[in-house]
Amino acid sequence: MKQKPFNVEDIRKSFPNLKVGVHEKPLVYLDNAATTFKPQSVINAVANHYKSGTSNVHRGVHTLSQQATAAFEDARNKVQGLLHARKPCEIIFTKGTTEGINLVASSYGQAFLRKGDEIVISEMEHHSNIVPWQMLCAAKGCILKIAPFNDQGELIREEFQKLLTPKTKLVSIVYISNSLGTINPIKEIIADAHKQGAIVLVDGAQTVGHLAVNVQDLDCDFLAFSGHKIFGPTGVGVLYGKESLLDQMPPYQGGGDMIASVTFEKTTYNVLPYKFEAGTPDVAGVIGMGAAVDYLQSIGLKNIERYEQELLNYGTKALNAISGLRLIGTAKNKTSILSFVLPDIHPHDVGTLLDEEGIAIRTGHHCTQPVMKHFNIPATSRASFAFYNTSAEIDQLAQAILKVKDVFR
Ligand code: PMP
Repeated sequence: MKQKPFNVEDIRKSFPNLKVGVHEKPLVYLDNAATTFKPQSVINAVANHYKSGTSNVHRGVHTLSQQATAAFEDARNKVQGLLHARKPCEIIFTKGTTEGINLVASSYGQAFLRKGDEIVISEMEHHSNIVPWQMLCAAKGCILKIAPFNDQGELIREEFQKLLTPKTKLVSIVYISNSLGTINPIKEIIADAHKQGAIVLVDGAQTVGHLAVNVQDLDCDFLAFSGHKIFGPTGVGVLYGKESLLDQMPPYQGGGDMIASVTFEKTTYNVLPYKFEAGTPDVAGVIGMGAAVDYLQSIGLKNIERYEQELLNYGTKALNAISGLRLIGTAKNKTSILSFVLPDIHPHDVGTLLDEEGIAIRTGHHCTQPVMKHFNIPATSRASFAFYNTSAEIDQLAQAILKVKDVFR
């Protein structure tokens, strides 16, 4: 796809939501790790499906159904291209990252994990990459082991390696932490796990849409992400899985579309990827996610990565200049997430006062309570950037934080 030179002002024009005002101030949206705004092309793709293309997929011989099916499958090809997967059938459409992880825990876990088998995750996981494994361990008698991180928020590789034994059957690790911004050395982690014969699931929720991802080069066995964090619609996402593994796994849910034939005596299952896509999918959402992939490709992941690193460096300097402010997550290898605490001011107060200035950030534990426990804090304030944010917005953030400090002095 042809890429235009990176121009943030041009890019901003594609996102209507950036133009809304909050408390009669122009909105500064710095909550992109929670969800991202949608470019007009994504909004159009979803609206056009409902305006003139509404139909179910894989079922009809009529024109609209065939068109919807073609657009739906085209979105699969686009995601395959984005992730550099070997085949489109390795792309399973889900509701999001959470469902992708639950699918693997349920299907792979139920079929292949046994009592006493070990699963390794890390201390910086999102709850959606902790709880499904706890549930599986409770059901199957497996053992969950936790790889720690240091006070910069970097995974301690030697400690992780020490946890890997011949009993380790599965490793599930976040690529980029949503509360710390840490970029884990995922390729090395995957190689470590493979050496012990474990399979690896990568939580790519904060990665796809920020970094170029090549699943074949990483050699991950599974990777999950959400459409709404890559400038696409909510309610859709992707689980990438190696064909050889997906082929061996039993279905996750039963219903329409996932079967080859049904009788009361015996049901046979459909081929990949449909075996894992029971029921009517979010057709418009998937088509919208395909449009989001097109949009990302038109900007270029390398350009996005470079620009977001500049924003991160600028933002880190700006926030470090505020006396008393402590950044939570100072890994050498980081992405555009700045979590911070201010002495004696609760993050919720920071968030509320920033909102009055038109600045949207996230406050709380960010669904990573073990990360908060590590730093012995209840919550952080988190500013998270996308490629449509600017250094001027970071200046506004820094000014507003100074104002918060004044209010509490
Ligand atoms: N993992 C990480 C690292 C995340 O940031 C998130 C969303 N905050 C998730 C998993 C869950 O994503 P979703 O709620 O879209 O399923």
